[in-house]
Amino acid sequence: MADRPVRTRIAPSPTGMMHIGTARTALFNWLYARHTGGTFLLRIEDTDRERSTEAAVQVIFDGLKWLGLEADEEPVFQFVRADRHREVVEDLLARGQAYRDYMTPEELEAERERARAEGRVVQSPWRDAAPEDAPDRPFVVRLKSPLEGETIVNDAVKGEVRFQNSQLDDLILLRTDGTPTYNLAVVVDDHDMGITHVIRGDDHLNNAARQTLIYNAMGWEVPVWAHLPLIHGPDGAKLSKRHGAQSVTDFAAMGYLPETMRNYLAKLGWGHGDDEIFSDEQAIAWFDIYDVVGAPARLDWAKLNHLNNHYIRQAEPARLAKLVEEVLASRDWTLEAGDIAVIERTIPFVRDGAKTVVDLADAVVFALKRRPLELPEKAKAAMTEEMVGRLSRLRDTLAAQPHWDVPTLEAAIRAFAEQEGVGIGKFGPQLRAVLSGGAPAPDLAGTMTALTREETLARLDDALSPSA
Ligand code: GLU
Repeated sequence: MADRPVRTRIAPSPTGMMHIGTARTALFNWLYARHTGGTFLLRIEDTDRERSTEAAVQVIFDGLKWLGLEADEEPVFQFVRADRHREVVEDLLARGQAYRDYMTPEELEAERERARAEGRVVQSPWRDAAPEDAPDRPFVVRLKSPLEGETIVNDAVKGEVRFQNSQLDDLILLRTDGTPTYNLAVVVDDHDMGITHVIRGDDHLNNAARQTLIYNAMGWEVPVWAHLPLIHGPDGAKLSKRHGAQSVTDFAAMGYLPETMRNYLAKLGWGHGDDEIFSDEQAIAWFDIYDVVGAPARLDWAKLNHLNNHYIRQAEPARLAKLVEEVLASRDWTLEAGDIAVIERTIPFVRDGAKTVVDLADAVVFALKRRPLELPEKAKAAMTEEMVGRLSRLRDTLAAQPHWDVPTLEAAIRAFAEQEGVGIGKFGPQLRAVLSGGAPAPDLAGTMTALTREETLARLDDALSPSA
């Protein structure tokens, strides 16, 4: 395969959701294709007609798009290729590499029993029957697999995996209704798509042996196999819904950024030394499928959150503001004119502490509140005459500041406390309550800068002379 340009693919079955393991498989295929200057393809394995709805297919397109892992060519749909799959089976029959098996369901059941008792795989009496003996009744087509020797799957991740041919029964290629089986379809499609490297979950390792036999029977070049270990939850069990998130949609809804997911998923089973944070360009430059480790990878929420915080701090506020808007919309909160600008302005002051876009949405709520703000009970009670007097003087001090930025406001507050002969603790919490209405807010200078001079003073005025 070394002499052909690399072509990889992701071949999901539409199930209605895109598992994060599928996302990781897509990423590794994409990284390897990019690393080698090859091509990354998408095949929709839509042979299960019940599950393969248009919506379920769309989930895959949307998931890949969100992840930033779109295929380089138009997607291939498996179901519509059934004639081509049958054509290959005709070819195999003509070459004597496959045969029609006329066993009835009862005969097959009896043979299964015998095979079990004798500790061998099912063997059809039709394997070596003469064509003129063929009865007129339904049949399946089976691959005429070698009876002896072994099939070696030379896996880029797992190493050399050996299968005894005597343990592999003659694989069904076409069912009695003429529909192609899964293993046949995958081989024909991968061959026709020119796939050089099959990178997928290790639940398909056994299929690789069977698929190798089909490649050999057709005289086709076997692709490089790379079977990836599954992703486990923090407790070591296969990742499922009960770990809090399972699908690409789940992670997106929890407020993780796609670049976080790419970086994090790349670390699940692969890595570059101790590097925790790397760009797509670095991952592409460094990635090699032969460096993937065979042990299952565990999801680590703390690491994921740490990475997401990093990328949230790097992202353009305008982009984050749109994502925050989506989070708020999911809470039936419709923004008004100007709100998006408020969010964008506030983000730089709150994002350092945000692990997710959902955190970010919670953190900008204070700035979106409409005047007059409803103060928490405790803050209402703390509005003594003395406090009103002090906050009024503070208001005038603030209004007189030549600039409205964090250093200026920090200095102004410090100087004001000194002048009043009290610690900032005597009025700071009350000022914060007045400005935020009790919602989480950054430090005082950050809060005031995010709010702007006009809004800060207006909120103070509201609290100092509440209208009846
Ligand atoms: N359709 C299979 C799945 O969803 C993948 C088959 C393959 O990658 O060869 O698990």
